Amino acid sequence: MECPVCHNDMNTKSIKHFQEWKGHYVVFENVPAIVCSTCNETLLTGNIVDKINQTLWSMPKTSRKEEVDVYELTTS
Ligand SMILES: [Zn+2]
Repeated sequence: MECPVCHNDMNTKSIKHFQEWKGHYVVFENVPAIVCSTCNETLLTGNIVDKINQTLWSMPKTSRKEEVDVYELTTS
């Protein structure tokens, strides 16, 4: 598959996917994604997106909790 950004080759990789959900972040691990080896553009296929959404809506017990560091970017 060709990257829509830089037109180089993309490979299937297992990634960490971050998603905002009801005001906080959730992390999905071992997500199969298509990743560009050059610019790191990441694409999720439709059925993976569906699976993520289904998981969020069914709200199963999470595997574990991790703290997330938050930085506020000041541009002044
Ligand atoms: Zn690319």
